[in-house]
Amino acid sequence: MSELLVNSPNGHISASQRIPAIARPFVSERAAKTLDLVEKFVEEECIPGDAVYLRQIGETTQQRFSSHPAIIEDLKEKAKKLGLWNMFLPTNHFKEGAGFSNLEYGLMAEYLGKSRVASEATNCAAPDTGNMEVIAKYGNEQQKRRWLDPLLNGKIRSAFLMTEPQVASSDATNIEMTIKRDGDSYVLNGSKWWSSGIGDPRCEIFIVLGKTDPNNKDKYKQQSVILVPHDVPGITIHRMLSVFGYDDAPHGHGHVSFENVRVPASNMVLGEGRGFEIIQGRLGPGRIHHAMRSIGAAEKALEWFLARINDPRKKPFGEMLHKHGVMLERVARSRIEIDAARLAVLNAAIKIDESNAKGALKEIAEVKVLVPEVALTVIDRAIQAFGGAGVSQDTPLASMYASGRTMRIVDGPDEVHILQLGRNENKRGPAHKRRIDAQIAKGVELCKKYGIEAKDPLYLNRTSADKSKL
Ligand SMILES: Cc1cc2nc3c(=O)[nH]c(=O)nc-3n(C[C@H](O)[C@H](O)[C@H](O)COP(=O)(O)OP(=O)(O)OC[C@H]3O[C@@H](n4cnc5c(N)ncnc54)[C@H](O)[C@@H]3O)c2cc1C
Repeated sequence: MSELLVNSPNGHISASQRIPAIARPFVSERAAKTLDLVEKFVEEECIPGDAVYLRQIGETTQQRFSSHPAIIEDLKEKAKKLGLWNMFLPTNHFKEGAGFSNLEYGLMAEYLGKSRVASEATNCAAPDTGNMEVIAKYGNEQQKRRWLDPLLNGKIRSAFLMTEPQVASSDATNIEMTIKRDGDSYVLNGSKWWSSGIGDPRCEIFIVLGKTDPNNKDKYKQQSVILVPHDVPGITIHRMLSVFGYDDAPHGHGHVSFENVRVPASNMVLGEGRGFEIIQGRLGPGRIHHAMRSIGAAEKALEWFLARINDPRKKPFGEMLHKHGVMLERVARSRIEIDAARLAVLNAAIKIDESNAKGALKEIAEVKVLVPEVALTVIDRAIQAFGGAGVSQDTPLASMYASGRTMRIVDGPDEVHILQLGRNENKRGPAHKRRIDAQIAKGVELCKKYGIEAKDPLYLNRTSADKSKL
């Protein structure tokens, strides 16, 4: 048995055997076998490959943003041979994918989330995944052949440009970039930032959200999505933004301006005014992918945590850390929280498979909020166990924390999802009020029937006028 695959006190239990009972009936034999392959590929090839990748990127900013680490292409070749390619495109919607459901891919994404290079090596990396879904779902044949095919083959990469520096972009109706029709072209003007992936020299296509009809009375019909090749004149990348100091090169997060950028009218996706619909459709499954990768990151943090508290060289106050009870409590809490969060994500994936992203809005919002909180808490506990090393470059934990923290902001900040969940949940409030009042009234009646004075605190707190109504 490979040392790289041990994940139980009694030896290796394969990924397919560890699928939670609740999800097993929904996983095909083929998906279960692929899941085991994904686990082996990630543990034996990708995680060791991470170290090579980080060195091959280079040192200077110039090197880092012009690099294409050789390890990535080697891993892509291996992944293709193993059949681990494009697993993210779900069966029920796309003929171009590998034929797995959202649930099946969700299980695989957990393992991909344990390595820096694994998602790209299997052509399942964001933002390409969401972008490929957009073109596969909404693009016409010409757009598919020009951009989807090379993306599906892993030949090029892409970026999604929605967020703008001058407006609160968590509300997409604020977006100001203009897209104006001019003969057979559209002309784009405006600024974007947090354009992730734009730093990669292989990033050739931008999916851009802007406004074609800013005065439309329906504020959800003002926006459109258009495809913009990276080399059209008028596009300037001003700088790369960092995340807690990490530049995420060569991928990067660009601050970009568009000045009279002209693209053929045939680059419009789906039609003018359909932008909102497209971005809504893009984000549903993507949030599940992010969530499952975050679960993988949390598992990895717990593994590092366990390794540290069992390191015989490091004995504060004469004992290995696992002898200090507080650490075991943190391990146990991490186990409980990760397992619970995983179930929530799998439940959301099952719901998407049963209907679609729209039918699973509540479940998607729940995991969008819950999973980053759990992952950050677990990573934080692992960092603490490592002491100074935990915040340094000597473990992957610091960069995992930085990247995990962004999950509370990207694809809509926590508050937006929480407000929406709260509003929807509150719609049941009046009905609950009536039901509880009826139960109290019935309790009072029953008390009278048995000759007992009603002592329900809610009943006693009422005014006599209220009581007379019961
Ligand atoms: C690492 C990273 C990668 C990203 N990648 C991309 C990308 O590839 N493409 C892209 O277009 N964008 C990308 N983004 C941008 C991201 O999607 C936005 O930052 C996010 O949508 C929030 O928009 P904003 O930054 O304009 O914040 P704002 O909209 O200004 O919101 C600021 C804060 O206001 C609060 N807030 C917002 N709404 C409410 C509310 N209803 N109630 C209470 N409080 C509220 C929240 O605390 C929020 O964080 C990325 C961001 C990061 C950090």
